[in-house]
Amino acid sequence: MTTTPTSPAPETPTAADFRFMDAALAEANLALDEGEIPVGAVVVCNGKIIGRGHNMTERLHDVTAHAEMLAITAAASTLGGKYLRDCTLYVTMEPCLMCAGAIGWSQLSRVVYGADDPRRGFRVLTVSDRPVLHPSTRLLGGVLASEAQSLLRRFFTLLRP
Ligand SMILES: [Zn+2]
Repeated sequence: MTTTPTSPAPETPTAADFRFMDAALAEANLALDEGEIPVGAVVVCNGKIIGRGHNMTERLHDVTAHAEMLAITAAASTLGGKYLRDCTLYVTMEPCLMCAGAIGWSQLSRVVYGADDPRRGFRVLTVSDRPVLHPSTRLLGGVLASEAQSLLRRFFTLLRP
């Protein structure tokens, strides 16, 4: 698989990474409370959360209202500019192709995600050798993945038996 940017050594998550992923999980919990598929995201710049979002596709009747899209829009609005070059996106599940495209356009410098999405994740769906993400974007997966996964499992077993 050559679709993700490769760094010399695999990155290990920092304490801050876990803290911000916790904030993304809190967003995912809000989605669960609202009967939405529980995925949450935050955008962090200079150690501060500048955009949050959780899946709202049901409430907004909008298939594009994924957590990442909402968090990216909120962050750009906070910064007053469309590029998020010095920012990190934390999202509880591997982004889909649409969100990976938005992450690429926004030029986020780093993406940290929780659970893999083997069915709809951008890494399995990317067929080209050209990266969907911006070439300089660093990617780290598997941070608090089991927490993200258990929220998803709760949703699919309790709310959609
Ligand atoms: Zn998405």
